[in-house]
Amino acid sequence: MIVAIDGPAGSGKSSTARAVARRLGFHHLDSGAFYRTLTLAALRAGIPAESWPRLGPDDLEGLAVSARPADRGYRFFVAGEDVTEEIRAPEVNAHVSRMARIRAVRQWLLAQLRRAAEGQDLVADGRDMGTVVFPHADLKIFLTASPETRARRRLAERDITDPDPDTLRAETERLLERDRIDSEREVAPLRRADNAVLIDTTGLGFAEQVDRVVQLIEARRRSGPGRLGD
Ligand code: C5P
Repeated sequence: MIVAIDGPAGSGKSSTARAVARRLGFHHLDSGAFYRTLTLAALRAGIPAESWPRLGPDDLEGLAVSARPADRGYRFFVAGEDVTEEIRAPEVNAHVSRMARIRAVRQWLLAQLRRAAEGQDLVADGRDMGTVVFPHADLKIFLTASPETRARRRLAERDITDPDPDTLRAETERLLERDRIDSEREVAPLRRADNAVLIDTTGLGFAEQVDRVVQLIEARRRSGPGRLGD
C-alpha cells in the first residue's frame, strides 16, 4: 500500500508520516530530505546557487549523496558522513527550494524515490508525492495549516516555544517564500491532487492529526484493493 502525503512547509507532514508509519508498520519516505541532502552537498562543495540550474546528472553523482534504509525510514549521507540532522539547518531551509525547482534534479531523484516503494507498504511525504511520484497511490492526503501555525511549529522544533512577534513574522515570511517558489515552479509544483483528502491541522493536536490519517488508511484498507486513478 502506498500513502502519499503532500502539503506546504511546516504542515506536519514528515512528523505525521513518521508516526503513522511506526504505528502501522509501514516504511516512511521523507522526500524533502533527499532535496535537503543534495542542497547541503552543493553548499558544502561551494557551488554557487546561481549555477545550480546547470547541474547535470554527472554533477549530481559527483555530490556523493546517499540514503540508507534505517529504522523504517532513511539516514542521509554526504561523502559517507551522516548528515541526517544537519540537513534541517536554516542555511539548508533557505536554499532547498532553489535546488528542488531544477528539472534535472527532480528527474534524477524520481527513480530513486520510486525504487524506495518497491515491495513494501510506504507512507511518502513531500510536495509531489500524489501528483507526480506516486500518481496511483492507494491514498492521497493534503495536509495544511495556517501560516502562523506552521511558523510556530517550525520554531518549536528549534525549542522556541513562545516567540516574540518579530521572530514569528520572520519565520512566517520564510515559510511563505518557500511555498511561493514550490507552488510557482514549472516542474512538479506543490498542489493538491484532485483525489487527495484535505486535512487542515490548524486546530488539531499532533495525536489527533496522526489518528485521522491512520483512520483514513484503515478505511481505505477495508474498502479493498484497487488503486486510485490519477
Ligand atoms: O518537506 P521539507 O520541508 O523537508 O522539504 C524541503 C524542500 O524540498 C521543499 O521546500 C521543496 O522545495 C522540496 N521538496 C520538493 N518536492 C518534494 C519534497 C520536498 O520539491 N516532494
